[in-house]
Amino acid sequence: MSSLEAQRKVNAGASRLIPLLLFGILGYCTWVLVDRVCIHYLLNPPSDLDIPRRTGAAIAILILYFVLLPLWALPYIRTLQVIVTNPGFTELRRDQEADLEKGHQPSFLRSCGNTTIADGQTENDAIPKPAMDRAAVLAGTVNPPPGLDEFWTRDAFMCDRNGLPIFCNMCNNWKPDRTHHCSEVNRCVRRMDHFCPWAGGIISETNMKFFIQFLCYATIFTAFLLITMAVLIADRRQKMGSIEVHWVVVLGLSALFFLFGAGMAGNTVMQALQNTTTVEKVHRGYRTDYIAVLIDPTMQQLPPAAPESTWRDGPTPYVGSIVYPLRPSNGHSETWNFNPALRDQQGHELYPNSRRFAVLCLAPSQNPWDISPLRNMKSLMGEEILDWFFPIKYSPYMVHDYQDGYYPFGAVLERLKADAGLTPARANIDQPHRRRRRRRRRRHSSRSRTADGQEMESRAESGDGSH
Ligand SMILES: [Zn+2]
Repeated sequence: MSSLEAQRKVNAGASRLIPLLLFGILGYCTWVLVDRVCIHYLLNPPSDLDIPRRTGAAIAILILYFVLLPLWALPYIRTLQVIVTNPGFTELRRDQEADLEKGHQPSFLRSCGNTTIADGQTENDAIPKPAMDRAAVLAGTVNPPPGLDEFWTRDAFMCDRNGLPIFCNMCNNWKPDRTHHCSEVNRCVRRMDHFCPWAGGIISETNMKFFIQFLCYATIFTAFLLITMAVLIADRRQKMGSIEVHWVVVLGLSALFFLFGAGMAGNTVMQALQNTTTVEKVHRGYRTDYIAVLIDPTMQQLPPAAPESTWRDGPTPYVGSIVYPLRPSNGHSETWNFNPALRDQQGHELYPNSRRFAVLCLAPSQNPWDISPLRNMKSLMGEEILDWFFPIKYSPYMVHDYQDGYYPFGAVLERLKADAGLTPARANIDQPHRRRRRRRRRRHSSRSRTADGQEMESRAESGDGSH
């Protein structure tokens, strides 16, 4: 068993135990507060001491406790439920699922160049892990894996430096924007934030809203318990001259969970306001991200490309362009004009539906999805104010059926286009509008299997592009 597999087993076991442990701790705290504190101290104080019965205080504490408890418990249970029923994995193609079950290599990879078996210390599964041969795909000598049309039929998507969407060598599939391969479950997860042992699974686009609600309510709940226990312990010490060990244990537990929960809640809300994830924050510092942006076909001339040495901080973010759908380069001697809608002598488009994308390089600090704090929060928590407080509806950003991209892009994209000379510079760039895709294309059309090959403006080397 590799160390990765062993780690996965440990994490899987811990993630099942920790929710049970949390509910055990909750049960214990409830018993202490209700029985030991309210019933045996506030309502029925020791008869030999001159301590008045405090019914009002006991009722107030019990009401607050049992109002605050479900407020955090319900989003927590909803998070656990979504982790099981809708964990946010990217879809596997049917052929790929069958291949994974049979333990065979996915079929398209037979035409897709080199095959490497992953090292047991990194990702050792029964299935060999072939890497896509980007150079061959870009050179038009092999078919690209199917599914490319999900990307180039939109107006912008994240890509590698060649303009190909990001490819996951573990899942053998293209990765939609903001998708991360989670080694814990060995699957690509949409808008993955982190693997959370407290919630027993992955925090992703499907449950981030409920997770934030859980953290915020749990912080309020533990703060209430902490203050209540601290006040009552001081009160008892003053009146009875003693302390009870159960009370102190609850005080300690509530202090521990308050500090942990408040830290997590603050960090998670801050990231939500910026529309970023833990994974993206970590990667943004050292990884170079590229974004493919549709070029207006009426533009007559391509802008000058930045030299490779200055891609992250050069005078222009433009590093090259690519035309989709990819076409075989062998057998076709013509070179592409800038305008993909090239016409023959009769005026017919030679390549109807072709789309040319500029490949733009993001600076390390640029987050293309940051729109505004309020809109970022609305895209996560919901448009209606009630959605923000109750763990019922999913986040609006789970809708990916938009023309502009998998997720709404912010002003950074317009600024990048202006910097690249693709649009006239504007002083105040407004939020991008969201257009519904006119029609949903089938996820795996035959086009991407048959129409391959490509054309690149600036370079032919294959990028790694693994995210
Ligand atoms: Zn993957």
